[in-house]
Amino acid sequence: MARLLEGRPIAERIKEELRKEIQNLKIRPVLASILVGENSSSEVYIKSQQKTAESLGVIYQLHRLNQNITEEALIEFINKLNSDNSVHGIIIQMPFPNQIDYKKISQYILPEKDVEGMHPKNIGKLLFGKAELLPCTPSAVMELLNSIKLDLYGKEVVVVGHSEIVGKPLSLLLLNKFATVTVCHIATSQAGRLEEHVKDAEILIVAVGKAGVIKGNWIRQDAIVIDVGINRLGDKIVGDVEFEEAQKRAAWITPVPGGVGPLTVTMLMRNLIEAVRMQI
Ligand code: NAD
Repeated sequence: MARLLEGRPIAERIKEELRKEIQNLKIRPVLASILVGENSSSEVYIKSQQKTAESLGVIYQLHRLNQNITEEALIEFINKLNSDNSVHGIIIQMPFPNQIDYKKISQYILPEKDVEGMHPKNIGKLLFGKAELLPCTPSAVMELLNSIKLDLYGKEVVVVGHSEIVGKPLSLLLLNKFATVTVCHIATSQAGRLEEHVKDAEILIVAVGKAGVIKGNWIRQDAIVIDVGINRLGDKIVGDVEFEEAQKRAAWITPVPGGVGPLTVTMLMRNLIEAVRMQI
């Protein structure tokens, strides 16, 4: 029976370190958060960011912008925050209304204020293994793996999901540790080959957003399973992996909720403190 790889205790330990670092900075870091329009899932993330920020002594500035804002007006707003020296980090909440192109907009945040680590300059540094500001969810996954003192060198790692915010940057972080990385996605499934790749995984990381896309009986004996997926099933939140069956085979498995999620917001705060250091 797998042991639970829980994010909360690791997040608490890192937050304790961050609290001390913030005290040493002698200024209160300011995180500006932009929300365009209204969205119930964004409200959940905002609440959690706000709560974590306040517990660490970070000032969380929430900017609610109109649903119909144009790209030009949003860029102008970002530029104002870029040139405001009292703001150290900027995050734009997803999803966006249709008139806004995230890939375009994210390039306007100053790289040293890009606490989501998604500016092309920061992604470029990640490619070379030199990024100071890492994408939050991938670095949360790396913290989970670190916490069980896992040497990734030469390990068979399968990442399911190739999004810009999770799968792609995560595969770079894993490659930088010399893991053997296989990235699967929708076309792998459509080609009928997802099962065979998953069955090979010593470490399986899933970020798809479809409950039960990974069958429990595909899990390799003693594998480490990190489930990034968040799916609402009635009044329950579940991941992408069939948990009960997977738990019988794996050595470690993350619960959903309580695995990757609590660490992601902590990684955001860690980036903010790094951003402060880069700016002062
Ligand atoms: P996305 O929609 O951008 O990407 C989904 C990926 O899954 C794509 O690569 C797609 O090709 C792949 N995919 C879709 N159907 C598939 C199938 N049948 N078989 C194999 N691959 C398939 O999603 P995202 O933004 O990367 O998020 C993925 C999940 O992770 C979501 O549930 C999201 O809520 C969750 N998430 C959690 C956190 C956290 O902090 N815990 C952070 C970010 C995202």
